[in-house]
Amino acid sequence: MKVPYNYLDKEFQNTTVLFSEWSKLIKSNEFTLGKYVYKLESQLRKYLNTKYVVSVNNGTDALLLALKSINVGQNDEVLLPTNTFYATAGAIVATGAKPIFVDVDDRYQICLEDLFKKISPKTKAIIPVHWGGASPDVQYISNKLKKYKNKIYIVEDACMGLGGKYKNKKPGTIGDIGAYSFHPLKTVNAIGDGGFLTIKNKRVYDWCVKYRNHGMKDRDHIDIWGLNMRMQPLQCVVVMEGLKKLDKLIFDRNQNAKILDQILSSLYPNVIIPQRPPYEQNTFCLYMVRVKKRNKLIRYLNKNKIETKIHYPIPLHLQKAAKDNVSDNFTLPKSESQAKDLLTLPVHQYLTKKQVIYMANKIKKFYF
Ligand SMILES: *Cc1c(COP(=O)(O)O)cnc(C)c1O
Repeated sequence: MKVPYNYLDKEFQNTTVLFSEWSKLIKSNEFTLGKYVYKLESQLRKYLNTKYVVSVNNGTDALLLALKSINVGQNDEVLLPTNTFYATAGAIVATGAKPIFVDVDDRYQICLEDLFKKISPKTKAIIPVHWGGASPDVQYISNKLKKYKNKIYIVEDACMGLGGKYKNKKPGTIGDIGAYSFHPLKTVNAIGDGGFLTIKNKRVYDWCVKYRNHGMKDRDHIDIWGLNMRMQPLQCVVVMEGLKKLDKLIFDRNQNAKILDQILSSLYPNVIIPQRPPYEQNTFCLYMVRVKKRNKLIRYLNKNKIETKIHYPIPLHLQKAAKDNVSDNFTLPKSESQAKDLLTLPVHQYLTKKQVIYMANKIKKFYF
């Protein structure tokens, strides 16, 4: 039996609907912005029950646009967890601001204790990441920030959070701005790139809409210098099809995760499953556990045709790219220890119950 990590061949097996929608789109000539883009934005607004949505061409641009819209720039500091995708740090640096790396907790989310220790007068924003599809307590962060004199913005990196929930709130809708991605490794997949922002403030929304389209007020008038960050209508069509399947795929991934949790929990402390709060709906973009003898286990699973990944073997603050952002003896012990034993197992919606049980039993066998 094979247990593949990647499921995209299955996700896009049936292309009939896509080609038929694309052919309408091509006849419509609406290739930049236009009705397909606005329709998707309206669907997202409804799904997330949020005030404003701006689609952009990927999650990285969503983060960059969010930070720029609240004036993050030189001499500002932005806090982020050290275990996240590179784009979270890349977007901060692209604004001219300094990334301040924060340690993680036992659920692999930003460590709240370390976070509040690192707030300084220069802190302009915090980017809590919904890492892997689980969530940090953004509402708690938001409440605690009220006691600071200067406004500290919360930009949620919800790139893996679409379809999730935490204490009845949806990732990306709690802070000031939420950034999302439609990359093929998230919940709703484009066949390439796509992303969007949720925004609460009208002024910020108006600015983002302009900046994404060259700062244009209309064809002949430019209000601000902007960029082209527009999402492709071709991808909007794909994403709107994907959105129809979102709640079902979250359900299926959670079923798979439950089976894995159940079988693997008997392997403690060889396998450590993070705490899963009952009020959290994880999107399981990444099913992560900590394992003993990781390299040996990975080789054993590969031999049994089970594909695995590591997210990530090197935390951001130890990357070469971060050498100008941190001092030589800077350390974040929890993330460094997790980097040595984290393992990501396939848990996607196209796995059968049989495949999931096969994988879990192979892991069991490895330790006995
Ligand atoms: C995927 C991802 C991004 C970047 O999104 P892209 O659409 O690939 O640019 C940023 N942050 C996190 C946490 C992600 O998972």
